[in-house]
Amino acid sequence: MRLIMMGPPGAGKGTQAQVVADHFGVPAISTGDIFRANESKGTELGVEAQRYMAAGDYVPDELTNKMVRNRIDEPDAEPGFLLDGYPRTLAQVEELDGMIAFTGHSLDAAVVLTVDPEELVQRLLQRAATEGRADDTEEVIRRRQQLYTEQTEPLIELYRGRGILIELDGVGEVDEVTKRIFDALDVVPQS
Ligand code: ADP
Repeated sequence: MRLIMMGPPGAGKGTQAQVVADHFGVPAISTGDIFRANESKGTELGVEAQRYMAAGDYVPDELTNKMVRNRIDEPDAEPGFLLDGYPRTLAQVEELDGMIAFTGHSLDAAVVLTVDPEELVQRLLQRAATEGRADDTEEVIRRRQQLYTEQTEPLIELYRGRGILIELDGVGEVDEVTKRIFDALDVVPQS
């Protein structure tokens, strides 16, 4: 099973990605988590990525693509994977297409969680209060939303055109949203 989870910052991608990936027995690969782990370890990648993340900007494609390629090459991702927060740009879509085609597989579905932008700002400010993520200030949140609208939202139409888009309402209890995802995925053939 090869899936991607899309949605604006705060839509609940990470939470749902973990549950769905566990169900299919594949790793949930979150680019944001990998960048943050590198940042706290002080690796070269972390230091570089942190400059962009702190401002809410996207980490450059070349760096992000290389990181995802390395992660997907690991043995646990051979049966499949769920990508959380990747691809976010057209260049990343093209890169991912190449990576998947190389293994002779294809993407099974692109799941998009939709949530009203104002609700998202409130959720993220709430998260900032409890988790203290450095990029959850109102200014940086708005920048992340803007980039999502400009660069990532257009990818929804691209995946719709390929016939693999699953668009769902991300508002509700975590379990309710999970159920919507599973109901929708049942119609997706496994590979
Ligand atoms: P959110 O979806 O709430 O922005 P993430 O944890 O997924 O949170 O990502 C945090 C940050 O990591 C992003 O703002 C961006 O700087 C960086 N990042 C994550 N994924 C990508 C990606 N695919 N391309 C470029 N930058 C990324």
